[in-house]
Amino acid sequence: MNTRAPRRGITLKKQDEIERMSRAGAVVASVLDAARDWVLPGRTTKWIDGQAEALIRESGGRPAFKGYRGFPASICSSVNEAVVHGIPNEEPLRDGDLVKIDVGVEFESYFGDSAWTFAVGEPSAEAERLCETCLGALEAGIDAARPGNKIRDIAAAIEGAVRPTRFGIVEQYVGHGIGRRLHEAPQIPNYVADDFEDLDVELQSGMVLAIEPMVNAGDPGVVTLDDGWTVVTKDRRLSSHFEHTVWISEEGPVVLTRSSAKKLERRRFRG
Ligand code: MG
Ligand code: MG
Repeated sequence: MNTRAPRRGITLKKQDEIERMSRAGAVVASVLDAARDWVLPGRTTKWIDGQAEALIRESGGRPAFKGYRGFPASICSSVNEAVVHGIPNEEPLRDGDLVKIDVGVEFESYFGDSAWTFAVGEPSAEAERLCETCLGALEAGIDAARPGNKIRDIAAAIEGAVRPTRFGIVEQYVGHGIGRRLHEAPQIPNYVADDFEDLDVELQSGMVLAIEPMVNAGDPGVVTLDDGWTVVTKDRRLSSHFEHTVWISEEGPVVLTRSSAKKLERRRFRG
């Protein structure tokens, strides 16, 4: 265990805390695993929200987003041009939609947080490239989450995976530390933002980070709708979002929200 004092309120988790976070992460993963079979044409995101809440509660967890700053549902469901923080609704999903499902769970007083982009039916070629790029960026970011690296290395890895494409990296929303609270220090931008003071924070074993690139098909700009929550692309083109909760161990990154069945990784984002 590293004994150096972490900076700016960043908490280093002990082994028993990692074990609890791993159990919280497993509940999150089980919901996203099940969600693949829920995301079908004609289904509504409100129905998916109900299924997710039931599964979380059956597992002994609490849906972390419900009531968070007044958020009215258990999951965030963001369709097509919606990037993050979409409120589940009664609109039926249609073939070709891209649905981002973000799941947060509190379990044994610790949090897990993960998001996945699912295609309803067959995605367009552009949607597929967008999702591949965003998922590749998440994987690159996770790989950089090692002791001795800095937040900057995660940001640069994500940026490096997206910049060669013509897609836009969302700048207004960032990854975050996670533990006894859903959002802890540090913040993790998805590009090397030089005005970001956490960039030079050194990564230490025992940190747990939610890494979450958001990538737009077009312009990186986003706006919030009048519902006060739903963040959409300014140009109303598609967006993709993938997130994992990652423990930085002595040996390197350990994803706490990966599906134990590895089903998500094998089948990628295709329905
Ligand atoms: Mg999330
Ligand atoms: Mg998050």
